[in-house]
Amino acid sequence: MNNFDAIVVGSGISGGWAAKELCEKGLKTLMLERGRMVEHLKDYPTATMNPWDFKHRGHMDKVARENPVVARCYAYNEATDHFFVKDKEHPYVQDKPFDWIRGYQVGGKSLLWARQTQRWSAYDFEGPARDGFGEWPFTYNELAPWYSHVERFAGISGNRDGLDTLPDCESLPAWDMNCTEKTMADKIMAARSDWHVVQGRCAHLTKPSPIHIQQGRSQCQARSLCERGCPFGGYFSSNSSTIPWAMKTGNLTIQPNSVVQSVIYDDKKGKVTGVRVVDADTKKITEYYARVIFLNAACLNTNLIALNSTSARFPNGLGNDNGLLGKYVAFHNYRGNLYGSLEGFEDKYYFGRRPTQPMMPNFRNVKKQETDFQRGYMTFFGTARSAMNNAQNGIGAAYKDGLSEVGPWQVAMMMQGETVPQESNRLYLHKELKDEWGIPQLVTDIGYTENDERLLKDFLTQGAEMLEKAGVKNIQSVDTKQAPGLDIHEMGGIRMGNDPKNSLLNKWNQFHHAPNVFVTDGACMVSTSTQNPSLSFMAITARAADHAVSELKKGKI
Ligand SMILES: Cc1cc2nc3c(=O)[nH]c(=O)nc-3n(C[C@H](O)[C@H](O)[C@H](O)COP(=O)(O)OP(=O)(O)OC[C@H]3O[C@@H](n4cnc5c(N)ncnc54)[C@H](O)[C@@H]3O)c2cc1C
Ligand code: SF4
Repeated sequence: MNNFDAIVVGSGISGGWAAKELCEKGLKTLMLERGRMVEHLKDYPTATMNPWDFKHRGHMDKVARENPVVARCYAYNEATDHFFVKDKEHPYVQDKPFDWIRGYQVGGKSLLWARQTQRWSAYDFEGPARDGFGEWPFTYNELAPWYSHVERFAGISGNRDGLDTLPDCESLPAWDMNCTEKTMADKIMAARSDWHVVQGRCAHLTKPSPIHIQQGRSQCQARSLCERGCPFGGYFSSNSSTIPWAMKTGNLTIQPNSVVQSVIYDDKKGKVTGVRVVDADTKKITEYYARVIFLNAACLNTNLIALNSTSARFPNGLGNDNGLLGKYVAFHNYRGNLYGSLEGFEDKYYFGRRPTQPMMPNFRNVKKQETDFQRGYMTFFGTARSAMNNAQNGIGAAYKDGLSEVGPWQVAMMMQGETVPQESNRLYLHKELKDEWGIPQLVTDIGYTENDERLLKDFLTQGAEMLEKAGVKNIQSVDTKQAPGLDIHEMGGIRMGNDPKNSLLNKWNQFHHAPNVFVTDGACMVSTSTQNPSLSFMAITARAADHAVSELKKGKI
């Protein structure tokens, strides 16, 4: 009854992929999810609501005051509140400020994500060793077929741009840039040969392929209300794609409301045999057993589970012989924003929405060290016209008149900077404080470094120059000073590597010292690249699942 071939902990982006791959390969798989069930279509209560249908017209000021951490996330509002955790119910301790944004439900944050999906490049996998702070145990070329594998199934829109800093993907047609973005892109690229502008690649079905139709998904309607759950299955989520696919195999059992407390290491057998689960409602503890276990609870929670998995063999947490478990956590530096306005194009207006925007791959320190900081950043920008700009100064009739006329073109630019993993940026368990389920609270001790400050300064200078060259006026730069975590791209803590002395996992994501346990969410990452991470989590998960099944068949795990 409690025995399975495989257990997957977590049902978000990486857990969904683990379940799909393992089930397709014939493994009876139990997916344990701490949150409630969210079924595609059925459980998207706000998906088709109009702004005036909401009690507070979408604003959440009171609730936001009660949830100060998650309310800082741009996607949090009255229409999405039910997909975010309540801060008070899930406490953690911040040694340094860290905004931990979480979605505890079947589907995890795959319901909420912004769906930007770029492959990491060969430079991203080789750079950390060159720069002396980490070593990826595989190359881009080894991962490339797995990128193709997940891209075809998930459905990624984008152009084939032919850039080595942003490898081409298996793409569906790209979204268009608007006329101002096209003009800006041309001017930026004319100004410098290392500045490239491409249209953002995103997990949206611009032209569904047969594999997407088979999943029951259809073409994206460009409503950009995605975070409520999409009735068309227009964007990729575990709920619309990998989980129903895994269910169709007949091999998947999903068990929501199941908080995994720890992994069971059997000291007599000398191996991991299963996991301990606390029922979210009754708090009853049950054990489940399997030959292979995938930890996909998202970076920080996977670290927590591993740290909490102590035994005679591993008194300091699963596989933690070198004391590095929970260390070298990194994230993306999102602090830099630039704004400005664009003259001309007053006769142009676009109706409708678009779920992506132009982006510029990293051009700093790509092939060698060139600046006074390590690594680099990706740049995103977009333009829009809004009637609100005219209306903001008026009241009554002036306000209404303002609203009836669209305002000038506004430009916004932002950075996605790579941070260099530091041993001192770490997670550990609080010695006394526990949560409602009797699990020690996680402590985040993660901050910016001097390198991050220098990288930010460079982005603000370079970005302003790009905008100037593009003809943008009234350029303003902002350091948001936001805390780490709000980028929602946390990575590391259980990093991969060839050498068990300085890594926890091998090149196939198996714990060096507990090889039937795989970690394939952000926790396994050696570095953070300048690209968004989730597409890489998917590819790494599919690759690891393939290896797990082949090792099982050979009787090696
Ligand atoms: C607003 C927003 C925008 C984003 N935009 C992008 C983007 O554009 N591109 C990109 O690449 N990424 C983006 N991300 C990040 C992306 O969502 C995550 O990288 C991705 O969801 C991580 O996948 P995961 O499987 O590791 O975790 P999740 O998707 O978070 O899933 C983890 C699951 O594990 C469950 N769980 C946790 N602890 C336990 C436990 N103890 N027992 C059982 N279950 C547990 C959780 O409830 C959850 O369902 C964004 C995120 C947000 C919130
Ligand atoms: S923009 Fe596309 S994916 Fe998003 S809600 Fe609309 S149809 Fe769905």
